[in-house]
Amino acid sequence: MTDKQVKLCPCGSGLNYADCCQPYHLYQTWPATAEQLMRSRFVAFALGLESYLQTTWAKSTRLGSLDLEDNLVWNRLEIIATEQGMPFDDTGKVHFKAHYQLKEGGKVLESGVMEEVSQFIRDENQHWVYLTGDVKS
Ligand SMILES: [Zn+2]
Repeated sequence: MTDKQVKLCPCGSGLNYADCCQPYHLYQTWPATAEQLMRSRFVAFALGLESYLQTTWAKSTRLGSLDLEDNLVWNRLEIIATEQGMPFDDTGKVHFKAHYQLKEGGKVLESGVMEEVSQFIRDENQHWVYLTGDVKS
């Protein structure tokens, strides 16, 4: 992570980062719901925390390496709907929109929204992990 100070959590919960997604990123605790994992992964994308993204990705679908774009700025997460993914479920779905900007030299080249329905499962430790996603266009 960069040493830039993050106060409000970028996932949009309204909580401070230290009280929201940071404990997950530090592996102090694991998200109890699929939505919380989704939020923490969005923030990991926003902050460029590649190892967290790998760790929270199901081994069966994990990519060897992630190409995190420095020019891509993830601004805002909007949760549209969730299906299961609660503490006593084994699977879950989260439908979300992630708002981004493509920047170059401080200039915004493009603003966009990625809409996806992500699927989550439990790993061998019963932790929520990302399995796959359907991107809506
Ligand atoms: Zn958060």
